[in-house]
Amino acid sequence: MPSRRLLPAALALVIVAGLTGCGQASGGSVTTAVDDAASQRLTALTALDQRVARVAQRLSEANVELCPAVRLAAGWALHSASQYSNELRPLVQTRFGLRGDLPGVLSAPPGSAAAEAGLREGDLVVAVNGAALNAGPARTRPAFEGLAANIAVLDRALAAGAARLDIDRGGQSRSVTVQPHRACGYEVQLNPSDELNARADGRRLFISTALAGFTQSDDELALILGHELAHHVLRHRNWSDVGGAGREANDAASVNGAGDKETQADRVGLFLTARAGYDTRIAPAFWRRFGAANWRVRYPQLRHASAEARARALEQVQVEIDAKRAAGGPLLP
Ligand SMILES: [Zn+2]
Repeated sequence: MPSRRLLPAALALVIVAGLTGCGQASGGSVTTAVDDAASQRLTALTALDQRVARVAQRLSEANVELCPAVRLAAGWALHSASQYSNELRPLVQTRFGLRGDLPGVLSAPPGSAAAEAGLREGDLVVAVNGAALNAGPARTRPAFEGLAANIAVLDRALAAGAARLDIDRGGQSRSVTVQPHRACGYEVQLNPSDELNARADGRRLFISTALAGFTQSDDELALILGHELAHHVLRHRNWSDVGGAGREANDAASVNGAGDKETQADRVGLFLTARAGYDTRIAPAFWRRFGAANWRVRYPQLRHASAEARARALEQVQVEIDAKRAAGGPLLP
């Protein structure tokens, strides 16, 4: 990745920004066309969010022993009505049953603590351990703070272990107990953008909708997220950035790399991806395809080699991975 720094994975926090208004709803048929476009865009965004959440959860749990920051996590992706644009809000309220700032389950990936608890897409979380979450005020513009505050409450509860959640599922009240899993302590966020990039701020990993959409499989998406996670595993990022509800240091984690940071992250990232069970043999072909689509990746840059050079280096890393697998030992970079 043309990425600057590190970052990594974990619970996916999803910010689905608004569709920009694509037209004026002056007549019935125009309104319908605009609504259809919004509906289709929302469907596509939701599918991308769910893919990112699924891959992030798997990478995060499979590599927990190597991550310098860890936490107990449900492995879900949450969203709220309040974070969507005014145009989309009525649509998401209808489609997902979202209400105000209350967290709705956008994804409960297979194997996650959320899925094990029986949570599913569409569940609305209304209380944790008997304490009601805050639905917030009526909002006239998109806002993320209310959802973030509710997520912090949930994270704190999960940090203490099993948490009982009251949920609303299609108008019916239920109660479930989430037994959180130990996972890497970073969030992954999908950002609406036409640029093919991923980046990190030390606590979160951001991947653009364009890049997530460019990946043709979970294996390819895992390569990108694995590379960013590797920057964190390698402690390329300032330690002071680690913080947040329920996050703690894992001093036992220790992975060293040789060479420049991007070369290290490519190598360690491929191991992290393999450890999560993804097919890493597709990596060289992915980098060549990515290079063909993006000149910044195709040619050498200040911080990284050309896509072709990276593809060849990854072929060698794959040889290393195959040898370690054949030897039957732990798959450690
Ligand atoms: Zn990088």
